[in-house]
Amino acid sequence: MSEPAIKLQNIHLSLGRGAARVHILKGVSLSIARGESVGLVGPSGSGKSTLLMALAGLERPDSGAITIAGESLDALGEDALARFRGAKIGIVFQSFHLIPTMTALENVAIPLELAGAPNAFARAADELLAVGLKDRVAHYPAQLSGGEQQRVALARALAPRPSILLADEPTGNLDAATGESIIDLIFALRRDRGATLVLVTHDLGLAARCDRTIAFESGRIVSGARGTEAAQAVS
Ligand code: ADP
Ligand code: MG
Repeated sequence: MSEPAIKLQNIHLSLGRGAARVHILKGVSLSIARGESVGLVGPSGSGKSTLLMALAGLERPDSGAITIAGESLDALGEDALARFRGAKIGIVFQSFHLIPTMTALENVAIPLELAGAPNAFARAADELLAVGLKDRVAHYPAQLSGGEQQRVALARALAPRPSILLADEPTGNLDAATGESIIDLIFALRRDRGATLVLVTHDLGLAARCDRTIAFESGRIVSGARGTEAAQAVS
């Protein structure tokens, strides 16, 4: 079997300081194949967002090993980790995190340009076309609807052509119909580009659209840690 896109081995992760320190991830092991889509479900506060932060290298675990696209994150220093994240991982959040003083085009192009990509503005325009926002490139976030803002965020996340897309409740701030169209778009773009997807959602129906559902509770995986292929490989 080829190298998995994502491999976690016994990850423990705590956040906060002193008395406020909370042990959030309590021994998470997980393998996700390249190109697989995984829905991550679980109660609020169970640690889903923290797990995505760990996958993105935005939070470091206390112990355990994280390997993404064959690269061990533990071995990377902060600068190397930031470069790795920029190249390999796209993230979209429930709140869109757009920069309010930049147009849609600039929100997508400036990060590309900072990463040293050639033709950043032309590429950003292509990405905005791909998410259906050709006519909104010059708009500022405040001039866009929630669904349109999430499309910009999606274009920004996918512009560097990451092999992994992480989405943390991407429809949480949208009405049902708009959310549905964003999800359709995420699945369509993922399919076109062959990216691995980890989608955090409260919605079991949504998770069921993924190849596999992982259920999370109190910082632990309660089902779905291994895909059938991986389970067969170790048995
Ligand atoms: P979920 O995304 O499943 O709702 P989170 O990963 O956001 O869960 O949070 C898991 C737990 O960790 C919650 O109890 C939350 O209060 C706690 N937590 C999250 N971030 C921090 C932090 N920076 N410091 C301390 N506790 C935190
Ligand atoms: Mg969360």
